[in-house]
Amino acid sequence: MPTNIAVTGAAGRMGRMLIEAIAISKDAVLTAAIERLESSLIGVDSGELAGLGKNGVVIVDDINAVKSRFDVLIDFTAPQATVANTQFCAEHGKGIVIGTTGFSAEEQASLESYYTQLPIIKAANYSTGVNLSLKLLEIAAKALGDDVDIEIVEAHHRHKVDAPSGTALAMGEAIASTLNRDLSTVAVYGREGQIGARERETIGFATVRGGDVVGDHTIMFMADGERLEITHKASSRMAFARGAVRAAAWLMGKKRGVYSMRDVLGL
Ligand code: NAD
Repeated sequence: MPTNIAVTGAAGRMGRMLIEAIAISKDAVLTAAIERLESSLIGVDSGELAGLGKNGVVIVDDINAVKSRFDVLIDFTAPQATVANTQFCAEHGKGIVIGTTGFSAEEQASLESYYTQLPIIKAANYSTGVNLSLKLLEIAAKALGDDVDIEIVEAHHRHKVDAPSGTALAMGEAIASTLNRDLSTVAVYGREGQIGARERETIGFATVRGGDVVGDHTIMFMADGERLEITHKASSRMAFARGAVRAAAWLMGKKRGVYSMRDVLGL
């Protein structure tokens, strides 16, 4: 049986992609589409909005109105909306797949307070390639360890509001925890002026913003005499959307608790 899925943020860049990814999935069916209160797209057919032709699922502004129609919510919206939706899903026995990034420490803490109350997957990036590269980064960090300088460079489209990207931070976390470093103390976010020589333990982040770049990440392991670079480039948001839909179908029937995309992919 395909999983009944609601998409919130249905009119957003990712929302429209998710509607398309669900339409081509055998394991999922779109049964509800939600947008924010003031959206001019309330009442519009979500299939038409995604360029697929009518699918009969009209966009609503109130998740309560569609609560009996879905089992798993896919949420790529904004931090405060995602925290409220997680609370809603916990209270109504639903699962949630969270794609939103850019949570403040406070928002992240309120999100985590629901982790034992519902089945939940939260990933900074739902593409298979990025999740595989997290594994590769751990292998590289373990082998190269303290002999290299590690830097992460990411590029995204001009509309992205948070920096560095959630994916870059997740990559930094994967490397730092492999090397028993605390990312909050070793991360360096951009450099300017008389910064002094580089300290080996630090992990540097550089952010590029512009155009329609979907998402590029390069991680450099730099030694004297050689440099290893691991690069992932997303050329379409469909890579994230397909992964999130796969995650939502996988989550159906799982016990309460927090899962990762690596669980979904068996990595
Ligand atoms: P977007 O601005 O195009 O879309 C967000 C949508 O959410 C908008 O249509 C907005 O109206 C809607 N929204 C906001 N508040 C809402 C609410 N309370 N209820 C319902 N809808 C609401 O942004 P986007 O590019 O689609 O990205 C959305 C989020 O997903 C960002 O945080 C982005 O960083 C993240 N993202 C994550 C991944 C991943 O793989 N994890 C991939 C791409 C983007």
